[in-house]
Amino acid sequence: MPPSVGGVDCGAFRSYNESMKITLQMQLVPTSEQREVLLSTMERFNAAASFAAKTGFDAGVFSQPSIHKLAYQEIRSRFGLSAQMAVRAIGKAVETFKRDRSKCPAFKPRGAVTYDERILSFKGLDKVSLWTLSGRMVLAMVYGEYQGQRFDRIKGQVDLVYRGSKFYLYATVDLPDKAPIEPKDWIGVDLGIVNLATDSDGNTYSGDALEKVRRRRHESRRSYQKTGTKSAKRRLKKMARREANFRRNENHRISNELVRLAKGTDRGIALEDLKGIRERTTVRARDRAKHSGWAFAQLQAFVCYKAKRAGIPVAFVDARNTSRTCSACGHCEKDNRKSQADFACKHCGFSENADRNAARNVRARAVVKRPDLAANVDPGLRSRAS
Ligand SMILES: [Zn+2]
Repeated sequence: MPPSVGGVDCGAFRSYNESMKITLQMQLVPTSEQREVLLSTMERFNAAASFAAKTGFDAGVFSQPSIHKLAYQEIRSRFGLSAQMAVRAIGKAVETFKRDRSKCPAFKPRGAVTYDERILSFKGLDKVSLWTLSGRMVLAMVYGEYQGQRFDRIKGQVDLVYRGSKFYLYATVDLPDKAPIEPKDWIGVDLGIVNLATDSDGNTYSGDALEKVRRRRHESRRSYQKTGTKSAKRRLKKMARREANFRRNENHRISNELVRLAKGTDRGIALEDLKGIRERTTVRARDRAKHSGWAFAQLQAFVCYKAKRAGIPVAFVDARNTSRTCSACGHCEKDNRKSQADFACKHCGFSENADRNAARNVRARAVVKRPDLAANVDPGLRSRAS
């Protein structure tokens, strides 16, 4: 069976060995005097970067060494930057050329300044020292608990950004993933319509609130479409954005809960292969519109990266017939699915909430791929999943 159709062999543990990159945000708390120095440093740096870009562009050269050769001395003398700041200003121009050489960039006066460990250093947990036009300056900074835990991992470049009258530092850090646990069992997850997700323990992650937001947008769309004005269009766009944000929050909430549950019980998480979801016949055309593929994909992506971070294995299984197969006896028949909500087996009479039945099938398919885990499973499960 090809990995794309499911299976929990190693191939299905997607991108398992990559470490994860996250961006940390820290806010600087400058005095009013420091503030002025920071702003003029940013302005000088960006003017130098624009100069470097123009020098390179006019000469038809776009690499760091070639622009360095032409512009470095002048940047040092004319803009009063330190050696490393001059290198970084040229670097900013070079980065832009990497994306597009067809036009010469002019950087915003208060655009981002790239620092590295030669011109920036953290002093303890609440101070940072930055090179500025007035020399080294020590600034107070604040950050969330989440940033603090990872603070020691900051290496390489840090961007100084001015936004909404505030100064921020952005640093990308590599988070090594936890070594994955050896799962004792799997939590099967069924993605659905009424319930966004249902797990094989029987927990449901409701989509009620989301459905309300969605319905409101569709009603408004109908009335706005009649007017067809520009402001109506704008309002529709805004509502679409709000719905997408809401959905993302819901997906974060659900994925957090699933990973927490898995972690607390030493289990892996089994998900349906997305390909199967698109083809699933029980999802009628009008329901499909409700749950566009990206929403499912987003939830799965969230589960994957959060699980990886926590050392929880994720398995993708074949989703075919999970909704019409009996999770008690393994009998598969279309009529088993009495309605959207109810499952009742024609063969053994087992009845259960339809989503929960599907989630139990997902779990069983993950278990059966791992015979070493089968000892933990009741015998009925083993036979039916094949
Ligand atoms: Zn049955």
